[in-house]
Amino acid sequence: MFELKNKVALVTGARRGMGQAHALALAGQGAKVAVTDISLEECQKVVEEIKAQGGEAAAWKLDVTNQAEIDQVFGEVVKKWGRLDILVNNAGIFKPKMALEMTEADWDQTLDINLKGEFFCAQRAAKEMAKNKWGRIINIASIASGGVGVGVMAASHYTASKGGIVGLTETLAQEWAPLGINVNVIGPGAIDTPMISEAQMSKEVMDAFLANVPLKRIGKAEEVAAMVVFLASEEASYVTGATFFVDGGWLAA
Ligand code: NAP
Repeated sequence: MFELKNKVALVTGARRGMGQAHALALAGQGAKVAVTDISLEECQKVVEEIKAQGGEAAAWKLDVTNQAEIDQVFGEVVKKWGRLDILVNNAGIFKPKMALEMTEADWDQTLDINLKGEFFCAQRAAKEMAKNKWGRIINIASIASGGVGVGVMAASHYTASKGGIVGLTETLAQEWAPLGINVNVIGPGAIDTPMISEAQMSKEVMDAFLANVPLKRIGKAEEVAAMVVFLASEEASYVTGATFFVDGGWLAA
């Protein structure tokens, strides 16, 4: 099960953190993986890691806010491997800012990367996937996406972007079902990545977070990547328009 041989995947924001884990996991199941992020050099290191494990991958510089670059990179991936089957819309930022201090530039940067970037990468991918009547788009939102009772301090721009991802996923799943493209969204809880360490949360804040998590620990990137692999696979053929939380039980507590 979950065999991805002969599939081509593209992962955004894949130089580190969860994106890197998704790229490694997809390659581990046999997919050819386009490792993309703002830093080409860092992507190259992930490609080397995949190759060292016997997988196939290549690196591209891709800033998801740049429409021309999206078009060019997706085109080059298809030129190299002949098709595109799987997109993991993972690139995202979290720059904490209290709502009363939020500037238009703060708001636009977060929404441009986290929400607009995911939409236009999905649109470009769908044009390729439709040609083969098969595709899997996996959008990465967050437990902080609204509607589930998790408000996060200093994250109004972030939660708005992640809530938007859930909404657009449900619409795209409807629009693209006739094209053979399944679109789903993953909402990770607190996961151990550079994003979390760079947010520099104090021990008290982290302890307060974990008090709400029945499994009593922060998650690993690989634990989210396992869900990505399932949603990317043939076995997820009857799954679309759905949100999957990988949160250590946080929402159940
Ligand atoms: P991360 O370690 O910061 O990785 C995110 C990657 O995206 C970074 O390499 C970043 O590059 C890249 N990126 C930023 N702007 C970009 C752009 N315009 N175009 C392309 N790539 C860009 O974060 P992570 O924790 O692995 O997060 C991955 C995803 O999961 C994000 O969407 C995040 O919102 C979501 N998420 C994370 C958590 C968590 O607890 N970690 C929880 C819920 C959801 P730079 O470093 O150069 O900015």
